[in-house]
Amino acid sequence: MESGLLYALIALAVLVLGGGAVLLLRRSSNRAIEAPPARPQVTAPEPEADGDVALAEPEAPAAPATEVPEPSAGRLARLRARLARSNTAVGKGLLALLTRDQLDQDTWDEVEETLLAADLGVGPTQELVAALQRRTRVEGVSDVAGARALLREELLALVDPTLDRSVATHVADDRPAVVLVVGVNGTGKTTTTGKLARVLVADGRSVVLGAADTFRAAASQQLQTWGDRVGARVVTGPENADPAAVAFDAVKHAVDEGADVCVIDTAGRLHTKTGLMDELGKVKRVVEKQAPVDEVLLVLDATTGQNGLRQAQVFSEVVEVTGIVLTKLDGTAKGGIVVAVQRELGVPVKLVGLGEGPDDLAPFDAEAFVDALLD
Ligand code: GDP
Repeated sequence: MESGLLYALIALAVLVLGGGAVLLLRRSSNRAIEAPPARPQVTAPEPEADGDVALAEPEAPAAPATEVPEPSAGRLARLRARLARSNTAVGKGLLALLTRDQLDQDTWDEVEETLLAADLGVGPTQELVAALQRRTRVEGVSDVAGARALLREELLALVDPTLDRSVATHVADDRPAVVLVVGVNGTGKTTTTGKLARVLVADGRSVVLGAADTFRAAASQQLQTWGDRVGARVVTGPENADPAAVAFDAVKHAVDEGADVCVIDTAGRLHTKTGLMDELGKVKRVVEKQAPVDEVLLVLDATTGQNGLRQAQVFSEVVEVTGIVLTKLDGTAKGGIVVAVQRELGVPVKLVGLGEGPDDLAPFDAEAFVDALLD
């Protein structure tokens, strides 16, 4: 009887322990099954992780707040210190020469050298020296103020304040103005396209940009960033896409959206003149199926001197250039290139680049320019 009771107790204990073990097993296996749905609870609710995501979002470069670019009017006057920094040496040099006691042949030779060194070009230099000789003989130069006034007048006449320097961006109500930006790679073409978009936006125009420099891998991305900053749509294509196709698309978008201006950055491979002619000619032809090209801006690097003038010549033979953008005028004492290139191409300088900042592109203003030289 006692042993029977003992067996019964052992049996009960086995049952109880066994049940517990099964329960434990079931619970642990349940946990294993339930583990995946529990996982998001581990990661998702982590407050730091949430905070990180929330903090990271505004940093995303694709959607920055749009900027309000500086007004374009009077930019050259505001940026004149940039010009003056490198070019005043020329102005000061000329003033020092003209106020010498004796204006002898040696002095005039030095005047000529100074002007040639500033890239004014042979023709304009000879004209200016002749005009200065004539006037100093007739009127005399009494002091620095007189010399400055004389020089200012003659330089201004060479730079020509009467030229129409407006960029054709107001053409018609029912279609966008189309601007092609051309030039050799490295001159600042893409940067200028981006800066021009800012000038236009600052003037209250809506802009579509076309990234048709499809041969330089970074150009599209570079332009996209410029466009994003001012809320301008940028039409791009894959690397090595047909530039004419991208240009066509850009103008189509501009037409469809009723944008005011479409600015197209083109490829600047100056491999052969025929290649360039084919490429730019095709871009222009294809674009004109949508809307006429109103402005062809040739971008030239002011620091490249005669080389830049040769490039300009080639481009002007290939496509009808209507305006010149001189970049990097902040880094050179060769401001005379403004006159030389206008003479060479018979086309006005319309914009000048005076630095790498986003609003360092200024509408060209002959008076402000000459004043900066003589500052
Ligand atoms: P692209 O190959 O002709 O499209 O040349 P980019 O637009 O990429 O410009 C080439 C370099 O020139 C970049 O480093 C620009 O920041 C620089 N650049 C462009 N315009 C100016 C300017 O007016 N002044 C200075 N100092 N640098 C400029």
